[in-house]
Amino acid sequence: MQIGRWDVRSLDFGRFRLDGGAMFGVVPRVVWEREAPPDALNRIELALRCLLLRDGVRTVLVDCGVGDKDGPLFREMFALDDAGRSLCELLAEQGLGPADVTDLVLTHLHFDHAGGAVRLEGDRGVPALPNARIHLQRRQWEWAQQPTLRDRASYLKENLELLRELDLHLLEGPSELFPGLSLRVVDGHTPGMQLVELDGEAGPGLVHCADLVPTAAHLPLPWVMGYDLFPLSVVEEKQALYQSHGDGSSWLVFEHDPRLAAARVDTRGRRPVIVESLERL
Ligand SMILES: [Zn+2]
Repeated sequence: MQIGRWDVRSLDFGRFRLDGGAMFGVVPRVVWEREAPPDALNRIELALRCLLLRDGVRTVLVDCGVGDKDGPLFREMFALDDAGRSLCELLAEQGLGPADVTDLVLTHLHFDHAGGAVRLEGDRGVPALPNARIHLQRRQWEWAQQPTLRDRASYLKENLELLRELDLHLLEGPSELFPGLSLRVVDGHTPGMQLVELDGEAGPGLVHCADLVPTAAHLPLPWVMGYDLFPLSVVEEKQALYQSHGDGSSWLVFEHDPRLAAARVDTRGRRPVIVESLERL
């Protein structure tokens, strides 16, 4: 898909599972299970999807999945799909090698978004994308060094230790990172999470919703996750997102939706309505 000057592709690593109750916060199971049927352990299926953006000058990845450093216990707990593909394989399908990626935008540092930035070589961590500059909000970086008791399970120490040695570009708020590619900053899920927005110029724009709207089931304003640190802020930030992108023209990209990679959504009525959707970009 072309959005303004950017060629956009979705890279699909595979599936994992998280507790359905945690994914839907105060929404009762009898309501959410219609949207996301749980397994016997109450877990729902989720995608691990990242975006590849190219404008002829830069090759940008937005998030990079869980990575391949985790042991069998971890993989079993989250039902990480071993049939899923590695970052190398996904890039190769696009005719790229890891060294071709110039920039990695990390929306935030939760393990399912940032773990793939480092891979193991023997017992040593090395950058998965050796030439990539890593763009991250400073507030998220600082938060991740000392998360609270409530959210520290979302950050893996080994990921952070290895990231520290890479080419980190710590950002101080919203900005236009590259021509036609801007960063919106939201704080309700975790402080300093950033969303990538592409300027459609004459056509539709695009926003990568990260964990603000992780799946299409989370489109209704009160459907916010139990994982969110500040749920009322999430509701307000979704309202603001819909002010910019909710008239049915922009593409909303869902990082974790097991079926839909992106949708154009009209949020102006009582409930959001999907106008058009795509399983991959
Ligand atoms: Zn997250």
